[in-house]
Amino acid sequence: MAEVVALNGTAAEVASPPQKRSPGGKFAILDGWIARGFTFEVTWPTAPEAASRVRSHFGARRFAYNWALGQVKADMDAKGADPTHESVPWNLYALRKRFNAEKTTVAPWWGENSKEAYATGIADLCTALKNWSEAKWGKRKGPKVGFPVFKSRRKDQARVRFSTGTIRVTPDRRTITLPVVGPLRSKENTRRLERLVGAGKARILSATLTERWGRLFVSFSCIVQAHPYQAPATGGRAGVDLGLRVLATVADDSGTITHVQNPAPLRATLSERRRVGRQLSRRIPGSQGHRAAKAKLARLDRRVVHLRRDAHHQLTSWLVGTYREVVIEDLDLAAIKKSMGRRAFRRAVSDAALGAIRPQLTYKMEWRGSTLTVADRWFASSKIHHGCGCRLIERKRLDKQLVCARTGEPVDRDINAAKNLRDWPDTASCGSVGATASKPSSPTGSGGGLGSDAGSSGAGGGDVRPLQSWEAVPGEARTDPDNRRGTPRRGAA
Ligand SMILES: [Zn+2]
Repeated sequence: MAEVVALNGTAAEVASPPQKRSPGGKFAILDGWIARGFTFEVTWPTAPEAASRVRSHFGARRFAYNWALGQVKADMDAKGADPTHESVPWNLYALRKRFNAEKTTVAPWWGENSKEAYATGIADLCTALKNWSEAKWGKRKGPKVGFPVFKSRRKDQARVRFSTGTIRVTPDRRTITLPVVGPLRSKENTRRLERLVGAGKARILSATLTERWGRLFVSFSCIVQAHPYQAPATGGRAGVDLGLRVLATVADDSGTITHVQNPAPLRATLSERRRVGRQLSRRIPGSQGHRAAKAKLARLDRRVVHLRRDAHHQLTSWLVGTYREVVIEDLDLAAIKKSMGRRAFRRAVSDAALGAIRPQLTYKMEWRGSTLTVADRWFASSKIHHGCGCRLIERKRLDKQLVCARTGEPVDRDINAAKNLRDWPDTASCGSVGATASKPSSPTGSGGGLGSDAGSSGAGGGDVRPLQSWEAVPGEARTDPDNRRGTPRRGAA
């Protein structure tokens, strides 16, 4: 039977011996199992009371979040006035206990929703508080995190997570049952999960019900028995340059260059999205036309996300199925955006969502037993001329065609970068820095362009894998006077 009683967060039964951490680091996963997500779109229940039960759960989660935040703020104020005041500790257990003690007065309707709804809200606040305090004390990477704010109905991401109770994927492969919410009909066959669960090869740890673009989705967080590795692909090594013009340019060691275009429907949808966005901005908020334009925009947003996700999956699956080793850049997207200046360019970077590709490649390559190599962040793959070693001249910023500094021949930026990545790090050692300077030069941070040299200092190069000699690189580049600036990079001896 495909019935699973979800484990209680800690996954204690499968936790020993601990081998690796789950993505959130919340529990350990037994060796031979991997964490995997499955998402299904479900239809809104047709019965009005069932639909309002779903909305009620979203509201309950938001209520608990706001209640807990109010509690935390009141405690902080009281502590300021009276240092002996005893605050509720900032953890799920303590805040939940306090909520349960007070719920009959603050939320007399609490019994209408699953207790998981309140637990999700409080857990989300605890995460937000933790992120804030870690950012404040410099223990968290990335931009500063603000103190949590109260959530309004408009701003809140409508969702609720269930980790206990009966979470079921029924054998009819169409129905998903959640506690209290009841049965939901999946728009797509749930076979890929139901089969694994039925055979005991997957366990559902939690299910999250989310509303997005007015539609409902159920995401299952599971642990799944790892496949015995499929043999790695037969192809050799490939360098992949991710870009905005084309999704990817791939150069492999047989000399083949492959351009992977963004799908045409995506391009069409993007321009349509811009048109509808303008339409929306011209209409009066609250009017019927405004509502219609908003719904249209939401539909297009959804389409853009799905088309892009599909394109990314096709690209990564093709790479994993074709090559045994793939080299990609360590993109610092925040720094790239900063260097782009114009807002339209920055938006193009976000639009392309290039950051989603590397994690996908990582897990797919791992499943297959292949190698993913990430080139050093300071390796200027788009600036060094492959096979020549000169520093390419850029006529216009972000120009597709670059010019060789020595012969003046035009060079395709994307193809050149892909070739450089394929041969990394050997291409990195052809610059003058490796030959003339005894220690690696510090990053100049001169930035600009899509290259990896548009970066801030970070923990780049952590997963850099040393490579044996690959292909002979012309040595004359070492004395090239035009290349005096060299390549900012680290870790090259
Ligand atoms: Zn050149």
